[in-house]
Amino acid sequence: MEPKKHQKLRKSIVTKKVAIAGVAGLLIGMLLVLGIRFVTYKPEVVHYHANFAVYVNGVKEQFKALKYYEETEVTACTLEPVDSPKERAHMHGNVNDVVHVEDHLVTWSHFMQNLGWSLGDDYLKTADAIYPVSEQKKLVFILNGKPVENIADQIIQDKDKLLISYGTATSSQLQEQYKSIPATAGTYDTSKDPAGCGAGGEVKMSDRIRNLF
Ligand SMILES: [Zn+2]
Repeated sequence: MEPKKHQKLRKSIVTKKVAIAGVAGLLIGMLLVLGIRFVTYKPEVVHYHANFAVYVNGVKEQFKALKYYEETEVTACTLEPVDSPKERAHMHGNVNDVVHVEDHLVTWSHFMQNLGWSLGDDYLKTADAIYPVSEQKKLVFILNGKPVENIADQIIQDKDKLLISYGTATSSQLQEQYKSIPATAGTYDTSKDPAGCGAGGEVKMSDRIRNLF
């Protein structure tokens, strides 16, 4: 028979060991969870692309002015919510046929407004003139190969291809205009682009750490 004192001592050592093992297990578990979150973290950032062209009286708009393009600083990829209309849809780096969409529910007229233009289903306002639909002049929209009546309030979809054509173009001329639009949106979707949030964009270390807590 062990003396009672020893029994008590042994019991308390065992209790201590169990407690330490429990705490260690908990810590390892927590570290594991944090580790997995750290490695697999991918922010839910909206960023996709569409192609477009605007023709006025047979002439393709080149969007030459710098004001049509967003600096990367302004729209840099962060986890901050999009907080200005221009951040929602814009062009970058003098590429005049790619729309970068970085928010939900952005329409074609939202994008046009960001260019300083205005788009309705029966008028187009550019930087220097207003073009209303009339007996002679039509405003035609061809979206993904099909003519559509209304575009202004339509949400820009990933890899959309849109022609906006004002004037008297014949249907074969309209087809030519539509064909001039490149199909580069998909490439932008999967590559790193100026805003750095594309699928190929890297998640910043600080964002990974911030996501842990
Ligand atoms: Zn982009």
